[in-house]
Amino acid sequence: MARLKRGAYRASESCHPTVGDFVMIDWVKDGESRIRETLPRSTFFARRDPSSSGHAEQAVAANFDYVFVMQALDGDFNERRLERYLTLSWQSGAVPVVVLTKADCAEDVSTCIQIAESVAFGVDVRAISAKTGMGLSELDRYLEPGKTIVLLGSSGVGKSSLVNALSGDDLMAVGEVRESDGRGRHTTSHRQLTLLEGGAMLIDTPGMRELGMWNADEGLSQGFSDVEAYFGKCRFSDCRHEGEPGCAIAEAIREGELAPERWESYLKLKIETRLADDKEGFLRD
Ligand code: GDP
Ligand code: ZN
Repeated sequence: MARLKRGAYRASESCHPTVGDFVMIDWVKDGESRIRETLPRSTFFARRDPSSSGHAEQAVAANFDYVFVMQALDGDFNERRLERYLTLSWQSGAVPVVVLTKADCAEDVSTCIQIAESVAFGVDVRAISAKTGMGLSELDRYLEPGKTIVLLGSSGVGKSSLVNALSGDDLMAVGEVRESDGRGRHTTSHRQLTLLEGGAMLIDTPGMRELGMWNADEGLSQGFSDVEAYFGKCRFSDCRHEGEPGCAIAEAIREGELAPERWESYLKLKIETRLADDKEGFLRD
């Protein structure tokens, strides 16, 4: 059995392994051995398969325990994007952790943490700086031997810098373009699975941009458990939460218990997860 880092093996037509997969191989040697079988995944991220015209999915990372949902405190922070990433992370089956990066750029880190906590319901929020080392040790609890962590966040958020800081090495090229060594610009060859000295593994996959919200219902329920807690408490059991009398959602918003932006965000993501033909009645319990 092998843990897949990158394309060192040839796969048969029927199995499509991805980073983090465990596979059974018929061993010859690197590059010539053949993957016989991809073992069932405990968690995964998927995107639409670009080579397929239908709704086929393609896994882009597998068998991870935690997702570090990363946003930078240098202006990149966006609560709505954070909610979207968290929904996807819950949907993967793994446990999300919000990692606010570039904390050295923020004036008031604790306020930033509070804002993140208000949308990352029940999720641990940490602020770090790969530059100064601030907060890095707080991530240790997730970096136990045998644990695998996926780094999820926009380009430039500091994923490569975090890998380098945690590995104490310059494994990953930082920044968009690395100045040339005489051979012109390079496209960085992206290392996708890094084994840290302590035994944890980091997966940084560049293919995360295309992750979509389809089939993310469960993730949405977990990410918005504070919102869904009001369902079933309305006067009418088939309340659509659109202004009916005795609506628990409306009351929670009126009482200041539930932020209206949070409710709007939930509705928006709910619609995104639905195909156009079955939007009808989606808010009924
Ligand atoms: P990636 O695209 O997510 O892998 O992001 P990089 O790690 O390549 O970082 C993008 C830019 O942010 C680079 O210019 C880094 O030097 C910078 N950067 C990363 N981490 C920090 C940090 O903690 N503090 C500051 N000030 N800059 C950082
Ligand atoms: Zn209602």
